[in-house]
Amino acid sequence: MSETTNRRDFLSAAGVAAASVCVGSAMPLPAQEQKKKQTQLLQAAPKKEGTVNQNDLAICDTHQHLWDLTKFKLPWLKGDEVQKINRSFLMSDYLKLIGTHKVVKTVYMEVNVDPKQQTAEAEYVLDLCGKKDNPMCGAIIGGSPQSAEFAKYMQPFATNARINGVRTVLHDPDRPKGMCLEKTFVENVKRLGDMGKSFDLCMRPEEIGDGAKLGELCPKTTLVVDHCGNMPVHSEDKALRAAWMKGMTAAAARPNTFCKISGIIVTAKPDAWKTSDLEPNISFCLETFGIDRCFFGGDWPVCTLTAPLADWISAFKAIVKHMPLDWQKKLFHDNAVRVYKVAAK
Ligand SMILES: [Zn+2]
Repeated sequence: MSETTNRRDFLSAAGVAAASVCVGSAMPLPAQEQKKKQTQLLQAAPKKEGTVNQNDLAICDTHQHLWDLTKFKLPWLKGDEVQKINRSFLMSDYLKLIGTHKVVKTVYMEVNVDPKQQTAEAEYVLDLCGKKDNPMCGAIIGGSPQSAEFAKYMQPFATNARINGVRTVLHDPDRPKGMCLEKTFVENVKRLGDMGKSFDLCMRPEEIGDGAKLGELCPKTTLVVDHCGNMPVHSEDKALRAAWMKGMTAAAARPNTFCKISGIIVTAKPDAWKTSDLEPNISFCLETFGIDRCFFGGDWPVCTLTAPLADWISAFKAIVKHMPLDWQKKLFHDNAVRVYKVAAK
């Protein structure tokens, strides 16, 4: 059996097993019913390689960064390792780089600006959402749930359907472990749920378990684990990998928690990576969260530290190309629109 076939079988099996747990219910189905459901899913799906024309797949890119350095200060761009992206990146640049991929919707992802500029950042992207010359349909804006001022900050955006959620990066050196479980933080994440907004978890891989606890404390808030949980693809740190797997499994047990397949490319070797480098971590996420609870994010231009955006999209397409077409549609578009409540342009 060729390596390709093995890989295909593994991914199909992983996808089927996961989907059977997650389709329509957070509870595992009894074994026999599970098998019936799997068979139905496979029978309804195209089986032969090449039956899915991936060029036609509509994509919702749920993690589109932009930064205009003439308008915003991004303190983290001072770091040596990010000098390659220490310049402005605009919508016009993005549109030139998506190649033949059919990106029909994007969701802006906050870029960790100077906190004083968070409202201006939100207004900048709302303006883009209102223009017809680009695919941006919504935004995950920056915000500080650790702050007592958070409710006041969110007030102007509370009923704006273009604001899909909030993120604050939790892995920066000044962010202590356990920060997302502090009282004010938890209350504010609950508040987001009351507004119908989500919260993105961008955290250290060994701390995803805290994200799972946050999901338990805030059952009405949709949480999205960014970047497959930030586990470096080449890491041989067994304890780290075990902690990440445990945390992701706990997060997946929360029905309000989802997984974004993004960011992972940046942990591979620049200009020397292969699709197969990304596959084990991505497969683990798909298997753990299931086909209905994962979705794609480009993470441009950060992805360009390792690979062009179009190549990263092609790599994820290659990893899922043997899956049924409707599963691919879910991963690239439908789940994101449902989970983030992305409004049409
Ligand atoms: Zn990012």
